Amino acid sequence: MIAEVIVDISNHRVDRVFDYLAPDGTEVGCRVSVPFGNRRIEGYCIGLKETTDVPADKLKSVEAILDDYPVVTEEMTDIMRRLVAKYRWRKADVLRLFLPARMRQDGVRPLRVRYATANAGIGTEEAAEKTRRAPAQAELLEYLRAEGSCRTSELSRKFSPAALGALERKGLITITKERLLRKPYASVTGEPTEEVTLTAAQERALQAVLRGVKGTYLLHGVTGSGKTEVYIRIILDCLARGKTAVMLVPEISLTPQMLRLFRARFGDRVAILHSGLSAGERFDEWTRLREGSAEIAIGARSAVFAPLSGLGAVIVDEEHDASYSSEQTPQYNTLEIARMRAERNECPLILGSATPDVETYWRARRGEYALLELPERINRRALPPIEIVDMTREVRAGNPSFLSRTLRDRLESCLQAGRQAILFLNRRGYASYQQCRSCGYVVKCDDCDVPMVYHRDENRLKCHYCSARREPLSVCPECGATSIRQGSIGTERVAAELMRLFPGVRVLRMDRDTTETKDAHEEILTAFRNHEADVLVGTQMVAKGHDFGECTLVGILEADLSLYASDFRAVERTFQLITQVAGRAGRAEHEGAVVLQTFSPRHYVFRYAAAGDYKGFYEREINLRETTKFPPFSTIVRIVVSGEEETRAIDNLHRINDAVKALREENPSAFAYAKSMRAPMKKLQSKYRVQMLVRLIGDRRDEYVTRLCEIADRYRDDRLTTVVEVDPQNLR
Ligand code: ADP
Ligand code: ZN
Repeated sequence: MIAEVIVDISNHRVDRVFDYLAPDGTEVGCRVSVPFGNRRIEGYCIGLKETTDVPADKLKSVEAILDDYPVVTEEMTDIMRRLVAKYRWRKADVLRLFLPARMRQDGVRPLRVRYATANAGIGTEEAAEKTRRAPAQAELLEYLRAEGSCRTSELSRKFSPAALGALERKGLITITKERLLRKPYASVTGEPTEEVTLTAAQERALQAVLRGVKGTYLLHGVTGSGKTEVYIRIILDCLARGKTAVMLVPEISLTPQMLRLFRARFGDRVAILHSGLSAGERFDEWTRLREGSAEIAIGARSAVFAPLSGLGAVIVDEEHDASYSSEQTPQYNTLEIARMRAERNECPLILGSATPDVETYWRARRGEYALLELPERINRRALPPIEIVDMTREVRAGNPSFLSRTLRDRLESCLQAGRQAILFLNRRGYASYQQCRSCGYVVKCDDCDVPMVYHRDENRLKCHYCSARREPLSVCPECGATSIRQGSIGTERVAAELMRLFPGVRVLRMDRDTTETKDAHEEILTAFRNHEADVLVGTQMVAKGHDFGECTLVGILEADLSLYASDFRAVERTFQLITQVAGRAGRAEHEGAVVLQTFSPRHYVFRYAAAGDYKGFYEREINLRETTKFPPFSTIVRIVVSGEEETRAIDNLHRINDAVKALREENPSAFAYAKSMRAPMKKLQSKYRVQMLVRLIGDRRDEYVTRLCEIADRYRDDRLTTVVEVDPQNLR
């Protein structure tokens, strides 16, 4: 037999399928060890065949088979082929995505534990005879006969280890090795709860999925409308049909609370995959899924690669979340992989959100996805009212603080009533825009209509989507004021200011600085839930999926920060954030209130967000996207070249640029824009970065994405790094 092997080296020169002579027992999908050049390396056997064109004297043999089961399934190979064809990624890079990171190179192994068992069929007398002169052995044997099987590590603590060995040699006991599965969050268990009766809307959504089977569904339900219960019913139906299911959630929502809910419903049939697990735990959860002893995978982005066969549903909760696009290479798009898996398994893909991605909603409106709606909260509990405070008025009234008078009053009565508050401060990205503090004017690019970013090193404002630049503001062109604001406050300053204004107030901070350790995030949330603090000040980390019964006030301090991020999705992100943050107030019995502070109170996003009007917002946004030719009306492709030698990177980009130009001349109507420039972050980790930005339009966009990937691949250079990003989330 001949094995077709992909060697586990991420390099274009060896990015082929190699033939090796295969020993008996070689299975498709196993990892193998093969001679390669003058070393021995790991590879994946992705096929077996009878003959090869490789001459017999050149043909080498597989040296060892590393797995006793196929780790790469046919489905994985299939998806690998599609991704390689579309993006020109290295085959080995794609296959690695499917396997637990540390599995390669034997970085992690199953945990085996030794058990001792007293041999049956040996009479008491015989046993006594054989241990007559060894009281330690006699004692141990008696213990084992009474207890049955015991871990040897435990026995060694109580008895002499020598006795154990002696008993084994005398044939009185048997020592076996058994695999022990490491279980993450073992203490998180849930009591089975009573089944709730679905609301009419939930029932309609569920039936649509169960009846329709294939295809993509968008479950659009306001916060607290019971989407999770619908997912659970879909999964129950999968299990009843002998199928499996994957459910993806943003990393940050994968809390013990959520895990408890799923363990209560599904027990050990759930496996969890996310970056907080140890390599061993991850490997074992992965193993349970592969072997079929767990049938439901719940996890963050990378769980889309869960080794499940017979998928009955793929669910993506909070589908709009930016964490679904990967920032490592290869930069896969989680939704695209989810769709590929659903298609291949002929099962439904369910995307859920209270604030769907504008592009997803657009596809649903066009009939590409089935739109399912849950327009009301469970028990019809009202969403908290959102009060918009005009910060320019505060400035004019002589209040320079970042707390408006309204928010300060609300905070005071909230604390007096013994309740809790969350102050939310969005500090996404590094970008800073310039804004007039007296009228709220923000400098935007004339062509792209996105805010321009101030670059301190050049003292210029720049547009990150084209190369437009201009002088920074000193006087507002709208109102003539000279108080131009730039940068923003941090959570630390907010906390300090609160303690000055409200002596004795207990403040918790949650941001990147305070959540460096693994469990810090959960500890802060638990402390707040236990009312060990009165106010939680935090960044977008506090926005998601937490229930605090005593929290009745949410303050959004600088709503403009996300709004004026230099990103065409900025308005959309702001709408999503406000909706999510507001959902934190008044989840329980108490009425909640939300105060939103902004220098641009008339911006349409606030009006729609305050009214909870997603559709109104969507209409507005989609029209703008159409006029400015941003996704979904175009596909943005960014080719980033970086390297330690600046001129080498620039020369390389020139070559890419020329090739793209030639491509554009062939079919000018497919390109809305194509230009090279320095990357917004010109230097990162001592590497210079230059980029080419392209906006593709028309029906053949997918084809042109591939052609751009081909161009980048053709000019690749070992001393440079070239990355192609399709619809990047973050233009840094
Ligand atoms: P979403 O995911 O849409 O934000 P959740 O799934 O968190 O909403 O549901 C909100 C709350 O309503 C949860 O506490 C959930 O247990 C409860 N719930 C969901 N469906 C029902 C139902 N049909 N009857 C009663 N309570 C429900
Ligand atoms: Zn521009």
